[in-house]
Amino acid sequence: MQQNEEIYYINPVPSDPKCMYITSRIKNPEVERGHLQYQIIPELLINVIILDGDLLDFVIEEKTEENIKRLLPLTKTAGDINDYKLLLVIKLKRDNNLICLKGALLNKKTNRIALMTSFNSEKHITDNNSRAIKSHDPSYFIGHYRLSAPPKFWSELIKIVKQELPLKIKYKLRNNQWRKHTNVLDSIIYTKKIVSPYGHWKETNKLFNEGKFNNEKFAKIFINDININDYILMFDTNYDYALVLKITSKPIAERLNDIIIIRDNKCNHTPLVKDCKECIDSILEIFSSKYFEKNYKSYTKYLNEDYKFENMHAIIRNVEIVGKINNTCEAYNQKNYFQGSINRINIEIDKKDILKVNIDNEQLNIDNKKDYETDSDDDNNNIIL
Ligand SMILES: [Zn+2]
Repeated sequence: MQQNEEIYYINPVPSDPKCMYITSRIKNPEVERGHLQYQIIPELLINVIILDGDLLDFVIEEKTEENIKRLLPLTKTAGDINDYKLLLVIKLKRDNNLICLKGALLNKKTNRIALMTSFNSEKHITDNNSRAIKSHDPSYFIGHYRLSAPPKFWSELIKIVKQELPLKIKYKLRNNQWRKHTNVLDSIIYTKKIVSPYGHWKETNKLFNEGKFNNEKFAKIFINDININDYILMFDTNYDYALVLKITSKPIAERLNDIIIIRDNKCNHTPLVKDCKECIDSILEIFSSKYFEKNYKSYTKYLNEDYKFENMHAIIRNVEIVGKINNTCEAYNQKNYFQGSINRINIEIDKKDILKVNIDNEQLNIDNKKDYETDSDDDNNNIIL
């Protein structure tokens, strides 16, 4: 079965509409009626839409080893209790001391979720015409059926699964236009925008708006291949970390009012003209307006007629700043070196490796500026556009 053909839904149980169970778009024995569910795919579960609702008379229980034992069938299929991590368990206690547990267990070996219903009474299960399976706790039995649970069980489970899943990163990028963009990662943190390779001119914005900007390999990836909700890594050779970003918009051609380009007077074109070599030679430095405000004094020498300031025009994607990774994360060390400005990658990053970005207090300080001319790295021979 192709995983990407499958979609889960959570539907009301016909005989008890307050409770919900998983159904599948395609015929799938793993989620059907009368089956134990061992193979729920976490990535599919998080896309399910849940209606608001409560836990009915259940309460959330502690994620103890004892509860794992009570929820896991004592069978070869289920395997060893040490293979499982309890994600969520809820409990209902009735007056006659009948206890019902409903739980979701992550199989750490297969990365699949098992969903089980357990009672401290074999008779209660068999009286309801179901098969009772021994658990790893002699006083608890598993009902041989799919799990039904209150809406809040499902919404809590989805929340927990989202936290557990590693982030899948699909692309890595660099964004240092003309190699003159001072503290480019800070600009991205501040503006929450990343810029297309080759797409940072007024002319390319015009071409893009006319649907004619499609000649360049890396720009095509930026515009056509990267999707909303994709996660990317943004590297820059002047930083000892990479940003983890989530794409939140389609490509948009705009004037970036928070990005400033300082130029000398080598060329009178304003704004920059793409095919003019003098224009490129006239670029001294690029930075964000916030950086400029903070370091204003260092730039007073440019405030005369020999220099001009203009905004960048660019094809951008809006991004959410998820965090950053540094050399304590395997992915950072593995993926730090690459050619060109965009590479497709397929890696996963554990959420625990993602560090917080302090949006108000990242470097944004001229003392951290490094000398671009003496910067030596593997891609000095590649023009990063
Ligand atoms: Zn020019």
